[in-house]
Amino acid sequence: MSSAKTKKLLASNRSSALEKEDLISVERLADVEYRLTRKTVIDHWKNGKIERENLCDAQSMLKRNAIHCGVPVEECCPICEPGEIYYVTYVFGPRLPAHGRCISTKGELKRLNDRKTQLSAYVIEVCPECGWNHLVRIASLGGNKF
Ligand SMILES: [Zn+2]
Repeated sequence: MSSAKTKKLLASNRSSALEKEDLISVERLADVEYRLTRKTVIDHWKNGKIERENLCDAQSMLKRNAIHCGVPVEECCPICEPGEIYYVTYVFGPRLPAHGRCISTKGELKRLNDRKTQLSAYVIEVCPECGWNHLVRIASLGGNKF
């Protein structure tokens, strides 16, 4: 997808767009950050150990979700610079779709976090330009005892 097309989509569809502060952070003991794995994967690609097709294999739905529901993180794509990176959050757990709930509105994460059942949030970094995608972090939500 061209950059101009991406920006046009953004302008028309992002009136209530999520922002950085809407992202979940790693706070609990079981939460995991995948920064080191990311660096290793990118280094392997730079050294020719991994093919670009294996890194840039985001499905069209994931790319669409990045543009419509993702949070722009003001970072260039490590693979295709200057493609822009978006963080997309999917939440899994009881009474949520099997393929996860893609977080698209403000306050949605907070409402899910108020649930009594334990949920897992997967934050994925996506470049809609080239299809680069990588797991950023897994964080737990909900499970609060009142
Ligand atoms: Zn890219």
